[in-house]
Amino acid sequence: MKTVLPGSTIGVLGSGQLGRMFAIAARRMGYRVHTYSPDRDSPTGQIADIEIDAPYEDLDRVRAFASAVDVVTFEFENVPAATAEAAAECALVRPAGNVLHVTQHRLREKMFLRDHGFPVTRFAAIREASDLIDIGPAILKTAGFGYDGKGQYRVKSVTDAEGAWNVMGRTEAVLEAIVDFDAELSVIGVRGVDGECVFYAPSWNQHTDGILDVSSAPAPLGEKLQNEAIEITRALLEQLDVTGVLCVEFFLTRDGQLLINELAPRPHNSGHLTIDACITSQFEQQLRSVCGLPLGSTQMLRPAAMANLLGDVWAAGEPNWAAACAIPEIKLHLYGKLAPRPGRKMGHLTATADSPHEAEQLVRTARARLLNRPA
Ligand code: ATP
Ligand code: MG
Repeated sequence: MKTVLPGSTIGVLGSGQLGRMFAIAARRMGYRVHTYSPDRDSPTGQIADIEIDAPYEDLDRVRAFASAVDVVTFEFENVPAATAEAAAECALVRPAGNVLHVTQHRLREKMFLRDHGFPVTRFAAIREASDLIDIGPAILKTAGFGYDGKGQYRVKSVTDAEGAWNVMGRTEAVLEAIVDFDAELSVIGVRGVDGECVFYAPSWNQHTDGILDVSSAPAPLGEKLQNEAIEITRALLEQLDVTGVLCVEFFLTRDGQLLINELAPRPHNSGHLTIDACITSQFEQQLRSVCGLPLGSTQMLRPAAMANLLGDVWAAGEPNWAAACAIPEIKLHLYGKLAPRPGRKMGHLTATADSPHEAEQLVRTARARLLNRPA
């Protein structure tokens, strides 16, 4: 099996913050990085050696991009299947196209999970009006191209759901029963080319308005639940035959059951704290796995927490960076995005401490300080 060694070139489809943090890890280890997306001066492009600004549908440009690199990976799963296939004609693509196929479509993903016996919340596949059935309070989600809670509508009844489906343009959707959860968790697993799997300690994730707000790790789970979450993640890595990183988002129900919310076949926002808290970050693991190198240790050196910085933090002007950095444990990560729109992920803060709770307090305090105008 081909190992892609330092000095080689990695192609990244997509150019957001996940590609940026991947590119930072890759360049640190002596790789070159090319990125491809319909954007210019992108978060990834600012770090990459070469930024190709072209549509995903321009398959000739995609083939030329893939021909110039040693291995192709992606930083988000909504890369069109045809784009991944065109890249695969000219280069090794990891993870392989089947992983994208399942995970870029909510309905396909949910059916894959249910049909393979994984625990998921009750749902109905919506393709025509008569599919809208009463499953109590629910969320209607578009089947394709959703992220950060976009394309989701909370509904109380079938009548509500009909209205929401019309607003959605009557496209393919999933109607999913609302889970009365105790907590949201995630496990990030990595599988190497030889099938070796490693796992990070589960993160505890707190969302606001459908967007991840704060993650902390290790999540306060008993050994039994922690093992169960990790074994589910292992089974998914194996059944999807992933070479790369896979994040599994879970709901922990009030009666102690784990239900899978969704999968992400790439580094995940809840794993950003691994950069500052673990021996090997999730981005370095993505690099190692797609290059066929041995995986690194996932050991956490200290409990940690991460708070996202959305565009909203800029509402009253430039945030007070110095005030946040005055807390010595705080690490600032900014993604180089130009326009701080509300709800847009612009960066994050990480802190390590003696406990996840203390780390969480540090990142929350630091984030609040960003809004204090300098005296
Ligand atoms: P992201 O890209 O941030 O993961 P997404 O758009 O893919 O988001 P989901 O993970 O499906 O969206 O949902 C976002 C959040 O909305 C969840 O983390 C959870 O807080 C809430 N949510 C989604 N589905 C349900 C559900 N069935 N029951 C209760 N809460 C839900
Ligand atoms: Mg999610």
